[in-house]
Amino acid sequence: MINRWVIFTACTLTGAGLGWWAAATDGLGPGLLLGAFVWLLLDSLYLARLLNWLRTEQSNETPAVMAAALPRLPGVWGEFADRTRRLLKNRDQQYLDSQARLDEFLSAMQASPSGVVLLDAQGRIEWCNQTATQHFGFDAKRDVLQHIANLVREPAFNAYMAHGNFSGEVVIPGSFSSPARPVKLSVHVHAYGKGRKLLLSRDITAVAQAEAMRRDFVANVSHEIRTPLTVLSGFIETLQTLPLKEAERTRYLALMAQQSQRMQTLVSDLLTLSRLEGGPIPGANDWVSTSALFAQCEQEARALSSVLVPRGQQLAFESGLACEIAGIQTELYSAMSNLVSNAVRYTPELGQVQVRWALLDDGRGEFQVKDTGPGIAAEHLPRLTERFYRVDRSRSRETGGTGLGLAIAKHVAQRHGAELRIASRPGQGSCFSIVFPAARTRLCQQQHHTVDTISTSLS
Ligand code: ADP
Repeated sequence: MINRWVIFTACTLTGAGLGWWAAATDGLGPGLLLGAFVWLLLDSLYLARLLNWLRTEQSNETPAVMAAALPRLPGVWGEFADRTRRLLKNRDQQYLDSQARLDEFLSAMQASPSGVVLLDAQGRIEWCNQTATQHFGFDAKRDVLQHIANLVREPAFNAYMAHGNFSGEVVIPGSFSSPARPVKLSVHVHAYGKGRKLLLSRDITAVAQAEAMRRDFVANVSHEIRTPLTVLSGFIETLQTLPLKEAERTRYLALMAQQSQRMQTLVSDLLTLSRLEGGPIPGANDWVSTSALFAQCEQEARALSSVLVPRGQQLAFESGLACEIAGIQTELYSAMSNLVSNAVRYTPELGQVQVRWALLDDGRGEFQVKDTGPGIAAEHLPRLTERFYRVDRSRSRETGGTGLGLAIAKHVAQRHGAELRIASRPGQGSCFSIVFPAARTRLCQQQHHTVDTISTSLS
């Protein structure tokens, strides 16, 4: 400021001096005015340069270009320019910082497993993440500023938006939903700011499927238990109220025992399934002998066949090379015996059931059960391993089936890294096999030893 006064004083004094020199006292006044005018001219020039520089800044130049273009101004204008430049630089830095923070925030929203859509006060899309584009079929660039109601045309969603009560969520089909592959979305809107909305969407297809499966499962179990229970309570009532002959009593008691056996089998299969679901994955170092499993299955199959098929079936068991499977003995037996007992139960009198174990060329092991039973139509094959799915309901029940046998077999196979294969045609019998991976199959240790001994003695 002092500088400014000094220049002003210097200009006016110089003007006065020149006036005095030119016209003595008469020239003093005009000289002073001339000096002040020159000062004003210089000052306006500096101001004009400063304004010019500021205008350059407004045309969005970078801080570096701005600094280079900074005019060298004397005095207060120079300081003014310098301070303005510093202020602008700070503002630019703040802008860059907040832009970086906004980018990070948007990246976090992009990474969200939920769909995120930001809507303005009119319900137009301001921004949406990748997941939302998949859920609703939006185009993240093209659909910006489009009204959401024009893009999501589900009546339930439109009613939800129109109602304006966003305390709950609405469930709608996803954009790529089809009858074959239904997709369910849960959409929840949260209001924020001045009329703006945050829309969150979650894919709940798996949850909905699990819930439907749980409901079906409970309904099926209840139904399966209720049927024998109804029969049992009917017999109990009869025994309590009617004076029965000894022969009738014996017959009724036998039927009651049959029903309670049915319930016991069902409960036991359910427990097996729940153990399979919750249990740890079978270790790769506990080896189970295939010969022992075979012997158990054969014994059970022959006993079952003699009870169910009095006129007989032809049962053939080829245990092949004695091998070992890495896994849990009870689970492996459960899977194998289910396949064998199915073959016995569904194959009619004089039919054939062939069970064999083979070590394949690539080191895998195959347990195979073939029968000459009724066979299964192609449309049933993909669903056979579903719990309680039955093709022949009456035959299943008559022979003590629970509808869980193949579900157990598939589960056990999966847990052992094996594959359950089913090949069947109506009228041409069925072939069920479990193929164990080479890593879980080996020749029996004793046999190994024998082979080693032979090769040693030969050499
Ligand atoms: P279930 O206890 O009813 O036998 P499973 O899960 O073992 O239940 O089998 C499912 C259905 O698959 C059976 O109800 C039956 O209709 C069909 N099935 C299974 N094995 C055979 C087979 N060897 N021959 C014909 N149908 C079979």
